[in-house]
Amino acid sequence: DKKVDFDLIRKDFPVLKRTVNGNLLVYLDNAASSQMPEQVADRIDYYHRHEHANVHRGIHTLSQEGTDFYESTREKTRAFINAKEQREIIYTSGTTDSINLVASSFGKKFIGEGDEILLSEIEHHANIVPWQMIAKEKNAHIRVIPVDDKGELIWDEYLDLLNERTAIVAVGHVSNALGSVHPVKEMIAEAHKLDIPVLVDGAQAVPHSVVDVQDLDADFYAFSSHKMCGPTGFGILYGKEKYLEEMPPYRGGGDMIDKVSFEETTFNSLPHKFEAGTPPIAAGIGLGAAIDYLNGIGMESIAKREHELLNYATDELLNIEGLKIIGTAENKASVISFVFDDIHATDIGTILDQQGIAIRTGHHCAQPTMKRFGVPGTARASISFYNNEHDIDRLVEGVKEAKKFF
Ligand code: PMP
Repeated sequence: DKKVDFDLIRKDFPVLKRTVNGNLLVYLDNAASSQMPEQVADRIDYYHRHEHANVHRGIHTLSQEGTDFYESTREKTRAFINAKEQREIIYTSGTTDSINLVASSFGKKFIGEGDEILLSEIEHHANIVPWQMIAKEKNAHIRVIPVDDKGELIWDEYLDLLNERTAIVAVGHVSNALGSVHPVKEMIAEAHKLDIPVLVDGAQAVPHSVVDVQDLDADFYAFSSHKMCGPTGFGILYGKEKYLEEMPPYRGGGDMIDKVSFEETTFNSLPHKFEAGTPPIAAGIGLGAAIDYLNGIGMESIAKREHELLNYATDELLNIEGLKIIGTAENKASVISFVFDDIHATDIGTILDQQGIAIRTGHHCAQPTMKRFGVPGTARASISFYNNEHDIDRLVEGVKEAKKFF
């Protein structure tokens, strides 16, 4: 077990030294977007200043170098999630884009009239709306796996819902609104008994835990760079080759083709078949740097540290009278959603912001989750490895302050 000095790691994040509304920033909105360490920002900056050129089609040195840097992120990503092949790693603009790609392309080919798409009750809108769009197009149906009062998937209901009409199961690995960790490995094993593929929305899992797509046996796995210390505008879709080969291209244009004429176009091989146009090169290189950075700390150490902080924050927050935590699953990651009967979440967020404490309030792009728990929204503190106990103490003091106010 590697000993990591998390106080030292904090120094990699310049933003944590700034003040907001006259107070040192406490950043607890990591589920929305994580902060970027200097190493990643420097790498992106260096690319812009010294290396910029278009990739994939240049004969000149800058273009070839840029292609190598940009493509090296594919191998880093493959290794990071233990995918079998680099060509199973598709670059996208983020989790939303990755899920839209699968819903649209897999949907065109494999979803038919009367088929069912199985989602959990606590999905992010990004893992609901793309499926509704293809369901409408194909006259297919959305089926919903309910969760219990703790925010845990109801296993028997899941088993009951799986059937020969199920075209795909799409489920979040970790809920961004509640922090519940779905038992995706077991879910995938059950779905595979009926040859049903499973897409996992891993936006909130990859930044906080060791993810091994082969061990999970996931058919598709989606995540975003900006939640794992990388830049915005970039993300990953992992897909099993056997599906990706069969799926039609998602967007047409340069780079994704083999030969084009007005009569007919043939498409590039994987992964390029799904990557049309000039990509976000700097962002891709940035994700590579972010993966290097996270590997330098180690995902196991990160998960362990975040669980310490999650437990500490949960205990401290529960000491506040009237505070109720929404989402009390046994297996949780990095997110605490809470409410008061008599104080609006937005008001808590506003008072915390006055003290320099950043949390998220509202429905967290998960309106069905809010409906399930009978609340209009929650206040959500989401933790990263560069937070510390002092941040949690400031949060708790801040919430107490807000309580006094109302
Ligand atoms: N799924 C989950 C679980 C998320 O938390 C998020 C981001 N809040 C998304 C999908 C969408 O990610 P992005 O906005 O980066 O596409």
